[in-house]
Amino acid sequence: MSIQHHIHGDLLLAYCAATLDEGASILVATHLALCSDCRSDAEIVETLGGIFLENATTNQKQEKSDQKIFASIIKSHQSTASASSKSSLDSFVFPEPLRSYIGGDPDELDWQPVGGGIRQFLIKTHDSQTTARLLMIPAGKRVPDHGHQGFEATLVLSGSFYDRDSWYRRGDVSIADSTVIHHPAAGPEEDCICLAVTDAKLKFRSPLPRLFQKFHGI
Ligand SMILES: [Zn+2]
Repeated sequence: MSIQHHIHGDLLLAYCAATLDEGASILVATHLALCSDCRSDAEIVETLGGIFLENATTNQKQEKSDQKIFASIIKSHQSTASASSKSSLDSFVFPEPLRSYIGGDPDELDWQPVGGGIRQFLIKTHDSQTTARLLMIPAGKRVPDHGHQGFEATLVLSGSFYDRDSWYRRGDVSIADSTVIHHPAAGPEEDCICLAVTDAKLKFRSPLPRLFQKFHGI
C-alpha cells in the first residue's frame, strides 16, 4: 500500500533549508528514503531555492523567465516521480540515513523496556533540542493515554498503528502537538517499530506510565 501520511510542508521546507534539528532531520530524511512523492517535492524545493538565491537581484523581465524554468522543472519532476514511485522503496527495515545511526538489524539493538511491553532504543545524536528514539510496540498493544508539551513526529518503519481515525503503515508520518491527546494502538498483525522524535516530554495521564517516565525520560 502506498504512503498516505506525508511530511508536512513546513518540515520539508525547513529540512531543505538545513534549519531543522538533527533528530527531526533524521526523521524527514528517513521518510524521504521511503517516499518518492516527498523526495520529488524536496528536489523541487532545493532546485527552486538555488534558483531564487542566484536571482535575488533579478528584475521583472528575468522573473518571467524564471517562471518558465520553474514550470518545466516541476513538469519533469512529476513525470520522473511517477515512473520511479514503485521501484524506489528501500527494502531494509531501517533505511538510510537511519541505518548509519543504528545499524541494520532490529534484533541487535539494546531495547529498553518503558512499561506495558513497549520498548525503546534511544538514538545518539548531537542534538540537544530534540530526542530521537525507536519504539517497539507489541502487536495489538495500546500506548498509554498521553498529551504533549511540544512537537511529536512518528514514522512507521514496520507493522502499523491506529491513531485518531487513521491507520499508519511503513513510511507514514503522524504529527502531534500540544493540542493532541491520544493513545495509538499497534496493528494486530505484527509488532510495530517506529521512529519517534519529540522536543519535549510527553504528558501521561495514568500514574504507572508517569512512574516509567521518571526512569526513561519519555
Ligand atoms: Zn511523503
